[in-house]
Amino acid sequence: MPTPLWFDPEEMLIGGRWLRASETLTLENPSTTEPLARIARGQSREIDAAVAAAHAALAGEWGRMPALERGRILARMGRLVEARVDDLAVLEALDVGKPLRQARADAVALARYLEFYGGAADKVHGTTIPYLDGYNVYTLRQPHGVTGHIVPWNYPMQIIGRSVGAALAMGNACVLKPAEEACLTALAFARLAEEAGLPPGALNVVPGLGAEAGAALAAHPGIHHISFTGSVATGAKIQATAAQNVVPVTLELGGKSPQIVFEDADLDAALPFLVNAGIQNAGQTCSAASRILVHREVHDEVVARMAERYRALRVGAAMDDLEVGPLISARQKAIVDDFLAQAEGLTVAAEGRIEGTGGHYVAPTLLTGATGDHRLAQAEIFGPVQVVIPFADEAEARAIANGTDYGLVAGVWTRDGARQMRMARDLRAGQVFLNNYGAGGGVELPFGGVGKSGHGREKGFEALYGFSQLKTVAAYHG
Ligand code: NAD
Repeated sequence: MPTPLWFDPEEMLIGGRWLRASETLTLENPSTTEPLARIARGQSREIDAAVAAAHAALAGEWGRMPALERGRILARMGRLVEARVDDLAVLEALDVGKPLRQARADAVALARYLEFYGGAADKVHGTTIPYLDGYNVYTLRQPHGVTGHIVPWNYPMQIIGRSVGAALAMGNACVLKPAEEACLTALAFARLAEEAGLPPGALNVVPGLGAEAGAALAAHPGIHHISFTGSVATGAKIQATAAQNVVPVTLELGGKSPQIVFEDADLDAALPFLVNAGIQNAGQTCSAASRILVHREVHDEVVARMAERYRALRVGAAMDDLEVGPLISARQKAIVDDFLAQAEGLTVAAEGRIEGTGGHYVAPTLLTGATGDHRLAQAEIFGPVQVVIPFADEAEARAIANGTDYGLVAGVWTRDGARQMRMARDLRAGQVFLNNYGAGGGVELPFGGVGKSGHGREKGFEALYGFSQLKTVAAYHG
């Protein structure tokens, strides 16, 4: 089908002007491997121009705009996104390969982020501090200045919503570098931001390669904060680069998140969450529940019921809107295939069915018989693969759950209230879900990791604190 583009994807937005780069890159449709569109291959020259434009915005209309007005613009952006949810969903489905319904949910989430941060923009207050006699002391929450946003291919709309949305709400001027594998919705978002009245330079979008545009952005001395979502290796590089300029970094990296099923769990309630959280977006989700820890008493029943669901999973083109789409690229498929080839000692309990042809398809695979230290129970696979690990008691469940380098999300299924509280306290994760998983992805819920899952929190009000800095003002009046 023709790409439903209502804009020229080869153009980048810099300082309110849509410009072309001297070279382009080709986006691929992962459902077919056919070319989808050409995009700009931004380089350090374009990043320099974008950073300069962001500084100019801060020195101009954007920098002086009251929080109330910033919030209104964000709210208008949200309404424009809402009006184009179906168009955005098609773009994301074609570009990322995610089934249309999942892409649509991401577009709805983007609108919701903009609504939330639009409403919150004028509700972040400083405080007054009782101090020595004759002093009036208060704090101001101020923007960092120019924020860099390096975004991956797996959830472009959601990640743009939570990072750019919060940064703009606090009055920062943003330079966004979307992923070279999928960036159509980033460009569409910029068009809608312009239409909503966002002043020139408040948002600049420069597509390009990680090693070129991405590295130039991370190293730029004119950037005051960097928000990165992606792999651990790249995140570590970006942090090291940013350290040269002593710039704060928010890193949202990978995960190996567990869902833990105790013997007293409501299995009917748990089952859909156990499987969906593993195969959503073909497992290419940082918070995917890629480890399922199950008490020995209910292990066989849980495996049998998960296996039944796996056998009903169909894999196909994003626009066919089956349960699972293709992986993003041949490279990602090779990574996942390579992991599956290392499943020695594990049993394939069930697989889904590939119905699509020509794309980067991998059958969802449920593996059992693992111990917590198996390679496939430790590494982030980033594909539709879940590993089931049995445990004997609460202490063992906790040790296995906390026994990876990561700590992003965890889910616990038990009817025992005291155990819920103990697990919530002890699990090494940025989010813990009790008798659910993901809580519908709510934009209000602070999100981020510990360990190699990263640091800093996005989403909710926490993001607004992260995208601002606190200034203390001490006035002596006698
Ligand atoms: P990546 O981390 O290399 O890319 C993410 C973003 O960083 C992209 O925009 C990319 O252009 C940019 N980038 C790459 N190298 C850069 C550099 N040197 N300086 C600045 N920016 C740079 O991830 P990937 O190669 O697309 O995927 C590899 C693995 O990362 C996946 O298999 C998966 O395990 C993980 N991943 C995690 C997430 C997540 O949401 N946590 C998202 C995507 C990928």
